Amino acid sequence: MTTKQAPKRKKLRTAGFSNPNALKLDIPTPPTLRECLGRGFFSSGISPYGHREMTVAHSMQLIERYPSLYRLACASPVPSSSPFAREGFACGDGWFAIINKLSAKLSADPDLVVGQLKEKLGLLRVYFEPSLLPSDEIEEATDAALAEAVAESRITCERCGKPGEHAQREGHWSVKCEACAAEEARRKKVLLPSWVRRLLALRKKTVFDRSGLLAASGERSRLDLSPEHALALLEKYPVLYREAWVAPKNPASRFACGGFEIGDGWFHILDRLSARLAKDTAIHVVQVKEKYGRLKVYWEGQQNAPPDPRLDAEIEAAIREAADESERTCEVCGEPGMSEMRGNWVSVRCGPCDRSDEISAACERIAERVEGLDLAAFSASANAQDAVRLAIVNIGHAAVDQPPASRARLPTIDWQRLERLKETQAVTDMSVDELWRFAIDEASVLGRKLR
Ligand SMILES: [Zn+2]
Ligand SMILES: [Zn+2]
Repeated sequence: MTTKQAPKRKKLRTAGFSNPNALKLDIPTPPTLRECLGRGFFSSGISPYGHREMTVAHSMQLIERYPSLYRLACASPVPSSSPFAREGFACGDGWFAIINKLSAKLSADPDLVVGQLKEKLGLLRVYFEPSLLPSDEIEEATDAALAEAVAESRITCERCGKPGEHAQREGHWSVKCEACAAEEARRKKVLLPSWVRRLLALRKKTVFDRSGLLAASGERSRLDLSPEHALALLEKYPVLYREAWVAPKNPASRFACGGFEIGDGWFHILDRLSARLAKDTAIHVVQVKEKYGRLKVYWEGQQNAPPDPRLDAEIEAAIREAADESERTCEVCGEPGMSEMRGNWVSVRCGPCDRSDEISAACERIAERVEGLDLAAFSASANAQDAVRLAIVNIGHAAVDQPPASRARLPTIDWQRLERLKETQAVTDMSVDELWRFAIDEASVLGRKLR
């Protein structure tokens, strides 16, 4: 039986909070899908990209017409339950007719229970709970009905139900008619704040173009989360990061203005934390940043929801755990790191990234030393030349300590050239002209790349 797959539980098993006893205590059981629909709610909150959920009315119709097939709608949507209990009909309303027809056929097998129903790679997917094997006849009919429904979903607009095309749009497979595809693109343009649009545009570029663009725009520092990582989080947890769709000019929304204000090295920590926060709660994040060398995540609960101190404590514990991990993780590269006072700031760095910071500090010292000088004044100042020479040798030594992985992160830097600068004699032999050119041209470019 190839089409009858057990629902995937793996993802959900890790979904709960860390303390298994806490969930068994008196945290109120969330309402079932049926109860949510009865009150006019969607099963899984808002979806900023929209149209990934069937309307409440259609969901309710299916559940009432085929109560046995969709009996998980009345099951408690705890983390260990099958996806259908938590997500309901996780596809667009345009497929309602297909699912309605399919459900009627599937009802021939009284033991059949839907464990998950969703869109995947643009097509309708239905998984069943493990059940007794039906007769060959019923099984064949079930498989045929399922195959037919999937084939129909391939040519039916998931939004409106009109004929549509299965195609990749903005990196995602979906089936849409021309009008709905245009409408979706328009909505994204209107809804997304400029920084998300910029990220979306950048995602289409090659790595080379992107790093060039970012370097040219001067907008990205080593401590900005890369566009790929930021987008991955927004796409995986759209509800948790729903403020990404708020106009960034609203100063009340720190997240909309600042986005993810952390380095790439903490991406995996934040990804894991986001998965925990997004699973069991209706909260959303209002700020993500580094503070005193720790990951800080600020959040808000749903308005009008009654306060729940126990759940708040669980969330805070998850956030604290992530912050503790960040304190031991280099914010630039994700390798084990040390939290230390560096300059005026506490930061977490591994050895090589610490040395990269030294290169950037040496570039700053050079810039300060030659500020306001011209070549004539520089030629006349032995002190200024010595200071620049010393800084250059520092850069050379720090460059030697960079392992291949950190060099690969900054491919536009000529590391071999920098390494040669550790030779004191070679630097001593540099003419005043060469020193001057290094200070004016190379050091400022290098400093910017390492910022
Ligand atoms: Zn359509
Ligand atoms: Zn590092």
